[in-house]
Amino acid sequence: MPNKHFCQGPRCHERVTQDRFLKSRGVIRGRYAILPRDNDSEYYGRGKFFCSTSCENQWLDEHMTAIEMRIPVPFITHRRESQGYAKVTEEREGWQGTYTSSRIERVDNRTEIE
Ligand SMILES: [Zn+2]
Repeated sequence: MPNKHFCQGPRCHERVTQDRFLKSRGVIRGRYAILPRDNDSEYYGRGKFFCSTSCENQWLDEHMTAIEMRIPVPFITHRRESQGYAKVTEEREGWQGTYTSSRIERVDNRTEIE
């Protein structure tokens, strides 16, 4: 395991991207944060906690009310995942002939591992 926190984005493990997809188990996994824990950048300290600015924004959207109410926000310490995804490949007709197109799709009811 790298010397990084898991991304604290509340929906990071639900965003369907190639790099989050683990084909062998059919799951979407949350990313690691961009920067290692021991990075002491003054310019992007948040990079130790998030993989992207969109995950930072989602964290604020989801947790600011809790912070205002002094309710502790849990720190994510394990890799979260969403199950039930598969890579679907199809043959398609294009103007240059047949080509193969693939995408990641949800294939059954999602159950989250918390
Ligand atoms: Zn993230």
